[in-house]
Amino acid sequence: MSTALVVVDMLNDFVHGVLANPAARRIITPVGRLAEAARSRNDWIVVYANDAHLPEDFELRVFPPHAMAGTEGAQVVDELRPAEGDTVVGKRAYSAFTDTDLDQALRRHGVDHLVLVGQHTDCCVRHTSYDAFVRELAITVCPDATVVFEPGSDEPVGARQERALDYLKTYYGTRIEPSTALL
Ligand code: ZN
Repeated sequence: MSTALVVVDMLNDFVHGVLANPAARRIITPVGRLAEAARSRNDWIVVYANDAHLPEDFELRVFPPHAMAGTEGAQVVDELRPAEGDTVVGKRAYSAFTDTDLDQALRRHGVDHLVLVGQHTDCCVRHTSYDAFVRELAITVCPDATVVFEPGSDEPVGARQERALDYLKTYYGTRIEPSTALL
């Protein structure tokens, strides 16, 4: 069986665009290192789960238009561009599984374990984790390669990140491992 490194929403709009997140810049390097390591292994695949919204998407009643399909804002940041052989799924809601080809891609590669990185720990990573959990997939999350949305609250980003990770551990049995432990 194999592992999928799932890179969630490391897109222009989520790093320095409409939903810019200063904290996201700090995870670019660890995410990039994990992706490189994953590509060098026979039993890992790299999956990008990227928002690719259409104007009618329900989520846009909660958030301003972002990562609109086909725009520059919906592209992965330059430093983390997908490589040949990577899988890219476009999503229109929080979870990478909702109405995407992710299930099919994971089945094709015999994936039984997801390593989730990217953003945001308490939203798209969390909802993707739920869907992975109900599919009986093991989940690992790297605390140094995921972030919450820094401008989203006055509470320090570190405390919110800790709470988000605790939630994943408590409810989905997620293993919390620094990215360096997986290289
Ligand atoms: Zn979105």
